[in-house]
Amino acid sequence: MGCSHDCSSCASNCKGKGGQSENMKVELNAHSNVKRVIGIISGKGGVGKSLVTSLLAVSMQRKGFEVAVMDADITGPSIPKMFGLKDKAVGTEDGLYPVKTKTGIDVMSINLLLEDETDPVVWRGPVIGGAITQFWTDVIWGNKDFMFVDMPPGTGDVALTVFQSLPVDGIIVVTSPQDLVSMIVGKAVKMARLMNIPIIGLVENMSYIKCPDCGKEIPVFGESHLSDVAASYGLEVLGRIPLDQKLSGASDKGVIELADTTPVEDAAGKIEKML
Ligand code: ADP
Repeated sequence: MGCSHDCSSCASNCKGKGGQSENMKVELNAHSNVKRVIGIISGKGGVGKSLVTSLLAVSMQRKGFEVAVMDADITGPSIPKMFGLKDKAVGTEDGLYPVKTKTGIDVMSINLLLEDETDPVVWRGPVIGGAITQFWTDVIWGNKDFMFVDMPPGTGDVALTVFQSLPVDGIIVVTSPQDLVSMIVGKAVKMARLMNIPIIGLVENMSYIKCPDCGKEIPVFGESHLSDVAASYGLEVLGRIPLDQKLSGASDKGVIELADTTPVEDAAGKIEKML
């Protein structure tokens, strides 16, 4: 009753829904094979979604997997900078080639296509969604075990397009203690259920700082309530990342591949088991 046939904005869990979103999936580039696609989401920008995406990719690369990162944060692309990528992506008539990082992770981002990385992308939602689906259909990814997708922030229009168009196998939700955690997690859970995509777990970023003298963990933004919120949704907290100058330094200098990935190792371990 009253069905507009637009599943993207409908909360009912009716029978036809899964079918429709399956049908909206776009074909992967013919020269590519990607075994698992992992989306990294957050409630808003600046929470550390790109940092977590990069650390997970680095961790998996170190374990010997073939890894790709798709930067789907079209209006705030930070992946190329974190990996210190200077080259532009090049295309042939077969498609577009990703740019390789120093350790061999394949990356595609709108910033690798813009003439000047400071050019803003002033596009409306459907055009941004189109660019992301093209990253899936037109980029020659080759054979990959894992692709990490740095999602646009929030649970809006573009995020929905990605989940409807790409075969995302699971989502990592990044929160920070100053977030309205229970609302953010609630929204993520509802969106994931709507799209029939499992939530792998939660990662809390900027959880604490470590005292350089005594090693004590200081919760600068107050005590975290994430574990309680996670438990109420039946989810796992897979990591807590400290606010750490070494991490901001590594991302600013483009040497994230040298960073310590310990805080995301539990999440990486869970993702590894998805193969
Ligand atoms: P998002 O992708 O959610 O917009 P980013 O991952 O780009 O956020 O992080 C925003 C900024 O904060 C970056 O400059 C990053 O280096 C810094 N940052 C993120 N997490 C940490 C952390 N745990 N410690 C230090 N700096 C961090």
